[in-house]
Amino acid sequence: MRSPLSAACLLACLLAAGGCGRNGPPPLLDLAPGSARGANVVLITLDTVRADRLGCSGHTPSVTPTLDRICADGIRFANAVTPAPITLPAHASLLRGLDPPHHGLRYNAEFPQAGGQPSLAGDLRQAGYRTAAVVASFVLDRRFGLSQGFDDYDDRVDSQRQHGGATLRNERDAEAVTDAALALLQRDGDTRPLFLWVHYYDAHAPYAPLQPIASTDPQALYTAEIAQVDAAIGRLLQSPALAAERTVLIVAADHGESLGEHGEVAHGLFLYDSTTHIPLLLRLPRRELAGSVVTGLAGLVDVRASVNSLLGLAPPARSDGIDWLATSRSAGQGLYQEAALPYFDFGFAPLYAWRGATERFVEAPQPEYYDLAADPQERHNRYAAAQSGADSRAERARQRLDALRLDAPAIPAAASALEQADPAVTARLRSLGYLGSSTASAELADPKSQIAVVNLHSDAVHQLDAGNAAAALALLDQARALSPRNEAVLRLSAKAELQLDRLDAAEVTLKAILAIRQNADSLLLLAQIRVLRGDFDTAATLLQQAEQSEPQHGGIAIARGDIALREGDVEAARREYERAAQIDPARTGDIARQRLRPLATAPKP
Ligand SMILES: [Zn+2]
Repeated sequence: MRSPLSAACLLACLLAAGGCGRNGPPPLLDLAPGSARGANVVLITLDTVRADRLGCSGHTPSVTPTLDRICADGIRFANAVTPAPITLPAHASLLRGLDPPHHGLRYNAEFPQAGGQPSLAGDLRQAGYRTAAVVASFVLDRRFGLSQGFDDYDDRVDSQRQHGGATLRNERDAEAVTDAALALLQRDGDTRPLFLWVHYYDAHAPYAPLQPIASTDPQALYTAEIAQVDAAIGRLLQSPALAAERTVLIVAADHGESLGEHGEVAHGLFLYDSTTHIPLLLRLPRRELAGSVVTGLAGLVDVRASVNSLLGLAPPARSDGIDWLATSRSAGQGLYQEAALPYFDFGFAPLYAWRGATERFVEAPQPEYYDLAADPQERHNRYAAAQSGADSRAERARQRLDALRLDAPAIPAAASALEQADPAVTARLRSLGYLGSSTASAELADPKSQIAVVNLHSDAVHQLDAGNAAAALALLDQARALSPRNEAVLRLSAKAELQLDRLDAAEVTLKAILAIRQNADSLLLLAQIRVLRGDFDTAATLLQQAEQSEPQHGGIAIARGDIALREGDVEAARREYERAAQIDPARTGDIARQRLRPLATAPKP
């Protein structure tokens, strides 16, 4: 029973935006701090798993007996959300307890300034824990900064492998992940408590379950992959090292999957619940609160502070989350969300949202407001009604987002600060599709008006991956008709045209890209077409321009080597290829070594 508010506290509450400590909202979990002191901590992250795919969340028939058992033995947070529907930023928020603007990892890319920050792993290592992680995708490779605080960080993934008709790149399946985690646990003689993070990536597209199923329906294939993850978790949890009575178990997805809702096929572009509502489960050593369902708003950003509290450790010095053992969110207290992918991949406006317990406001060129209680599918944007005075909740939600964004750099600002800080990073971002737009956000296209272009582009990527360049080009022609100056579409078109040896068409496309933005990649491709045509003078000029745009691009040295070779100067070619391998090993090391191999046996002049 809560005590009534005293007059002094009432006054303090009115003055302080943060509410009144002892008499603030009741804790989300009725547990004593330190009640799990010394227990192992196992964190399982389910990449791309929707909350509604768990049997204990109502999915029938259930394909998740292991997760259902964890629900029965533990606590299910029914209203849990991620701050970003994309793998690296979401995992960083989970481990660091911070929103993306505060930890700095805004996208799946290398942000060097965002590495080496305090995290749950560091907290537990400092408290005497052995810390280990097994991750299943290159997106979580140690170079991106999440290995901080881990004694062991197993990020070995296959660069490419065929599986069930799909090409899986830079990932490993649930069985391999479980094998790696069990191997880590078999080490003898370590008596420290354990923090183990295991990441399962199977549910991420392409949907290719290990046990093939008869259906080709994406929903069925996706659900089959979740079943396969569930079975692997069952095997993992049989390990005696992870005995339930000595272990705090947390299971969470980094984000969901849209599966066609709002026109979005996968995730990353929008901020609706289809991709940001996540499963979040907590099982405690003595099965406290077993079978309970928490309906209060919870976030991935809460996990670090709450686990520290459960273990009786000091709270993180900085946190955007709450400690579930100390408080819950009041009606006006929501969570920050952002989508950087529209900006980085397509040059569209990035999205920002405020997610309350039953409402969402999305900041976009055409803003959106949803009443989730009345409209859980978020089909009816009520923002226009709010503008006419019919619904003041939308305006309050907008103000709450503005307040959360006060000390948070906007995504374009963060991207350009990064660009100025480190040209090598810029090059990497560009190779990932970052467009480096200098246009103000207000002038960028609203992603929801561009969903048809995004889906045509995504289908074209899959066709090109499967070796169907002609089919890809047909899709890209449709996308170009809808959005003639979309750089991502133009770049993919040029790639398809080059694969089809349509050099004239590729030249026209590349020049169209350069009319939007000078960039080394397009200049390089134009130069290579000129080399193929024997026009070495124009090629050399184009390469000089490319060098001005990006001096350390190894492709420039490769192209210069190719010209030297065609002119019969083997030594000059060798020098250029060696330079390419040296200045830009990540991007052009392999190509350079391929080019150098036949030259190794060529007689020196
Ligand atoms: Zn993910």
